[in-house]
Amino acid sequence: MQKYHAADKLFASKTDKGSQRSLSKINSIIIHTTGYGAGLRRLKEKYGDDLATIGDAYALRMANILKYKGHFLIDHVGVIYHLIPLDEVAWHTGSSKRKKLKTEWKHGWWAERWKEISNPTELPSWEGGSPNKVSVGIDLLAHGNGAIVKGYTDAQYESLAVLVRALCADLNIPIERKYIVGHEDVDPISRGNKRAGWDPGEFNYDRLLLLVRPEEKPATETTGPPTGTHDPQPIVASPPTSIIDILRNLLRMFWHK
Ligand SMILES: [Zn+2]
Repeated sequence: MQKYHAADKLFASKTDKGSQRSLSKINSIIIHTTGYGAGLRRLKEKYGDDLATIGDAYALRMANILKYKGHFLIDHVGVIYHLIPLDEVAWHTGSSKRKKLKTEWKHGWWAERWKEISNPTELPSWEGGSPNKVSVGIDLLAHGNGAIVKGYTDAQYESLAVLVRALCADLNIPIERKYIVGHEDVDPISRGNKRAGWDPGEFNYDRLLLLVRPEEKPATETTGPPTGTHDPQPIVASPPTSIIDILRNLLRMFWHK
């Protein structure tokens, strides 16, 4: 297995493999939280505030033991671990069945978030019948003190943006919200409750999209006049002045004297 170019470390999965797929089948990216379970809590107790070591240890655990996981993990310091090849289906959205999602009552927070569509199964991730088949799964290492997730670090947002930008470019995935979703978006029944979704939970999608396409930052965020680096002058050679033009000007000058 080869490390994906935008990832930092290769921790190849040693658990059961999913089926092979063509890269052209991939149409979306699904973001998850690892959850703050017993495994992560034990590492926190063992390594304290050494976030880099906790990340490495958790990635190793994911690669060697955890069967249900995404293709990538991003730890608290922003290290991107590559676990499963992109042309292999990963089991990261074991979830409610399509039929159940279509028929059961949808949560208010979900409807508020997705005004233009009426059902989770209308998202591109559901096109193949199962989101696992057509998506890339990215797990964000969770924070917590018993809670499932309490937001993510700046380093996690920045690394996620680097990874998402590379995946969108390589796999022809549009950089649009409906193609870059959370597990709670595709399955609000099993990954949310009446109040909110919890996978990835406290996550700012607008912030991610702004980082992925920085050129779309609203103008109001810019303070002061644009600097040279932000607004480079186009390098265009000035039109050459021909000898004839010079002579013509000289003649004109003499003519008027
Ligand atoms: Zn998930």
